[in-house]
Amino acid sequence: MLITIHSQATSEQRAQLMSLLRRLTGNQRPITPTTLDGRDIIGLDDSAFDEAMHTLLTEQRAVERILPIKTPYKLVNKAFKPEGSTVVVGEALDGNAVTIGGTSAPVIIAGPCAVENREQLLSTAKAVKAAGANILRGGAFKPRTSPYQFQGLGIEGLHLLAEARTVSGLPVITEVMEPDLVETVAQYADILQIGSRNMQNFPLLLAAGRNSHKRPVMLKRGLASTIDEWLLAAEYIMAAGNPHVILCERGIRSFDVQTRNVLDLACVPLLHELTHLPVIVDPSHATGRRELVAPMSRAAIAAGAEGLILEVHPDPNSALCDGRQSITPEQLHSIVRQTKLVAQVMSGEEILSHVA
Ligand code: PEP
Ligand code: MN
Repeated sequence: MLITIHSQATSEQRAQLMSLLRRLTGNQRPITPTTLDGRDIIGLDDSAFDEAMHTLLTEQRAVERILPIKTPYKLVNKAFKPEGSTVVVGEALDGNAVTIGGTSAPVIIAGPCAVENREQLLSTAKAVKAAGANILRGGAFKPRTSPYQFQGLGIEGLHLLAEARTVSGLPVITEVMEPDLVETVAQYADILQIGSRNMQNFPLLLAAGRNSHKRPVMLKRGLASTIDEWLLAAEYIMAAGNPHVILCERGIRSFDVQTRNVLDLACVPLLHELTHLPVIVDPSHATGRRELVAPMSRAAIAAGAEGLILEVHPDPNSALCDGRQSITPEQLHSIVRQTKLVAQVMSGEEILSHVA
């Protein structure tokens, strides 16, 4: 259940509610109100509550509303926000704000897998902007499978991303791998990316949820995570006080080595049933093959994704990371055009203008 606390509740009434909740849960669960949209909300597993316990709760003066939610995730459940969430990225003051979700057009995030050097990043930033991208991606801290591979430029990469942001006017997204680096990365990035390998790094999820810059978080699906595990990971971020969460499907492990992963596109409409959070798709990591990126981008938008994240490199074959799945800025341009058309068809505009 989700309990909304009355904004007028006195501290005595709140304390009374807290002590009742502690008693009802046997003092063994964290009961911490989360402030969302100015309201204090408590998420609770009430599966062991009987009717008398529910009645006791509804009688509390501090309780404004109780939303019965049976799924293990509560705040990310669609029932909490049936109209769906939108996430605003970037600064309205800088004129580079982008909205992800709702009725907004699909958002295109594009850029290199890794920030390699100044020239590579700045030229890619300008090229992806010219090709129609809305947000620039680039990894400064890279979670590499082998310790002998390029690990990213670290803090220097963050400085370069800040420069690319100014030069291109695009907001930037970059990955953070350690809880202790969340505040530093949040100083530079407009969105914090939590990578597949860290989807269940709970201290990292909490730190991203509490980041003092209130940066949105893009949470990638774990390599072999179920949808429920993924939604519970998103719940950690929201329960820590950050409602600005974007889910990113990036493929899951399977037995076939032809593609890097299996892109689970069925999860997109399914997530739209289960959660109010916007969903974007990463066809680059999902397929591992650049020739599959365009068809899977079109399919993702047709499935209802609110955006795409694509790896783009000026010279994919010389990329220090993930060159095989990286596309050129020219290929990005054509994907942007194609996905705009698909989005129009999905919203009915194209069809209606033909009928009229
Ligand atoms: C990435 O986007 O650069 C990345 C490492 O992706 P993932 O976490 O999905 O493997
Ligand atoms: Mn990559």
